[in-house]
Amino acid sequence: MKLVTFRAGEREAVGRVDDDGTTVRDLTGVTGGLTLLAVIEKWDELSGRIAAATDLPALVDARLRAPIPTPRRDLFAVGKNYRDHAAEFGRSGYDTPQRSEDLPERPIVFSKATTSVTGPYDDVESHPSVTSELDYESELAVIIGKGGRGISRADALDHVWGYTIVNDVTARDVQRDHKQWLLGKSLDTHAPMGPWAVSADEITDVGSLEVSSRVNGELRQNAPVKDLIFDVPELIRVISAGITLLPGDIIATGTPAGVGVGFDPPRFLSRGDVVECAITGLGSIRNTIA
Ligand code: MG
Repeated sequence: MKLVTFRAGEREAVGRVDDDGTTVRDLTGVTGGLTLLAVIEKWDELSGRIAAATDLPALVDARLRAPIPTPRRDLFAVGKNYRDHAAEFGRSGYDTPQRSEDLPERPIVFSKATTSVTGPYDDVESHPSVTSELDYESELAVIIGKGGRGISRADALDHVWGYTIVNDVTARDVQRDHKQWLLGKSLDTHAPMGPWAVSADEITDVGSLEVSSRVNGELRQNAPVKDLIFDVPELIRVISAGITLLPGDIIATGTPAGVGVGFDPPRFLSRGDVVECAITGLGSIRNTIA
């Protein structure tokens, strides 16, 4: 199922998207007004009713928000998790002055503040007083369903509720200058997400999904999820080894090659640029740099 969080007037609620990918239907009568985060927590109880619901009212003037507009805690995110991107970032000199193209031996996990989350079609703030080197990173994001600690690779996919798209917008100069990535990755509106949260039963082979991005229509990134250095089960195993994963937690799994800093000279984003991030089966998000 494709679920959304929508706003209609002053009201915010959860909807279900028809197979046409455009018609959003109000699920309030089924969910009793729960947030999507709460729906995911009660998924065993609610999923059957949500799937079976008929005669749901179609919305005309709904604006999509991020599927989980206010995550319960910061997003987990993974750096340098596609070979070609690890190489391009290493070459750029923004990672280490030695310009090493070595691949990581363990997943590089950082976080993005909850306040960076914004909607699938909302503007991305350019923060000109903070950064002059804005970049895009199209990524598959995993939404955790059943929480847990010490999750094995074999059990990991049982803990996945579903998937969505995140643009891991990055202030490259801030990322480089502060040594630790939190600030450069967490500016307000720098995690556009959506357009839908797609339940895992719709995705038979997550490795076959293609992650892409376009800037002003020009294709920049395009790679299958199977190119991940550390795949989804491995990321869940590593993160949950000592941290309890919770329902609704979001893991942005890393970005393929083709980001702005990978070009020589770099091609950073400017005001007015339109960035579209797409993943097969998960739709696309489109954000303008404001
Ligand atoms: Mg990233």
